[in-house]
Amino acid sequence: MAGSFLASRLSDAGHAVDLYDRPVQTACGAAPCAWMATRDFPAVLEGEGLEPEDYVTERFDAFLFQGQRVTADLMTIQKPALIADLREGAGVRTGPLDPAGYDRIVDATGTARAYLPPIGGDDLCRCVQFRVRGGKGEVLPAVRYVRGGYAWSFPLGSDERHVGCLSHLADPSGLIGKTGFLDGERLCACRSRLRVTSPYRALPFVSGKVWGVGEAIGCTYPLVGDGIVPALVSARLLLDHFEDPAGYTRAVLDAFPAMQRERALLERMKGGRRPSPAWLAEVDTSRLGIRVGMASAAGLILKILAR
Ligand SMILES: Cc1cc2nc3c(=O)[nH]c(=O)nc-3n(C[C@H](O)[C@H](O)[C@H](O)COP(=O)(O)OP(=O)(O)OC[C@H]3O[C@@H](n4cnc5c(N)ncnc54)[C@H](O)[C@@H]3O)c2cc1C
Repeated sequence: MAGSFLASRLSDAGHAVDLYDRPVQTACGAAPCAWMATRDFPAVLEGEGLEPEDYVTERFDAFLFQGQRVTADLMTIQKPALIADLREGAGVRTGPLDPAGYDRIVDATGTARAYLPPIGGDDLCRCVQFRVRGGKGEVLPAVRYVRGGYAWSFPLGSDERHVGCLSHLADPSGLIGKTGFLDGERLCACRSRLRVTSPYRALPFVSGKVWGVGEAIGCTYPLVGDGIVPALVSARLLLDHFEDPAGYTRAVLDAFPAMQRERALLERMKGGRRPSPAWLAEVDTSRLGIRVGMASAAGLILKILAR
């Protein structure tokens, strides 16, 4: 997504851009994602002159966490439609890229991080997801914790839902069946990984003429796993610092302080430490629009990895 966004912006600015992608690997044509956007999504799109309402399919003022209603500000989006619009008019190449043929390469390859140097101590957690139609699914988004992670059921409109699961400790495909979310007709399925390393452990962002963006440089929240808005924000930062690699690196590191806190909590929990109430203050759920019952929701988030 960040790559399509940058291709669109750079073409508009007069650069000659070639957009590369892998051959389509999913039924929806996009990289695996549950399409749940956080509250800043409309403002980020408006800031780029795009119309968010073209892509928002459902808005939610609450979600169910372990069956408890938690006030929130979330929305599911038609992410493949946004990507398609950003790519409009751009021919997508799927063959091998010859780096010698380009002045600049943007590594927007998500978990693949195909062009930047590998990250020492990289952390990719396993995910599985289904798109289902019908069934007894809730009309609100629903989240349940499972061993080492959590499962979700996110309404997409038209009686469809994304039902998925991530775990830092176990194969999520063995966990999702126990959540009760996976009913209805299964339309498609995908397996994938999610980079939970955080930008602070994903340096460098720039190596020679290769500049990374989005999940390739760790721009996802390590506990919750949201990366749509961060990918777009990091792409904007790349444009704003197009000739200034040090400035770009600084700007990304400054943009997502809550990712660093979530990463630190994740490391403590993966190290076997039990969450303490003092940790709750370190979880920033404001981007999810959680206003009421934050402490109890944060407590449940912390329990996710403590099981
Ligand atoms: C199961 C799952 C559910 C998720 N749900 C949510 C959610 O609900 N909300 C949210 O905010 N975030 C979610 N995320 C995270 C979010 O999808 C990503 O963080 C975000 O899309 C990252 O955007 P990106 O542009 O950096 O990378 P991506 O959107 O992952 O795009 C990477 C692109 O690079 C391409 N690519 C890979 N290798 C190569 C190569 N060698 N050459 C060329 N192209 C290549 C891929 O095909 C893909 O098109 C989820 C992630 C997973 C795995």
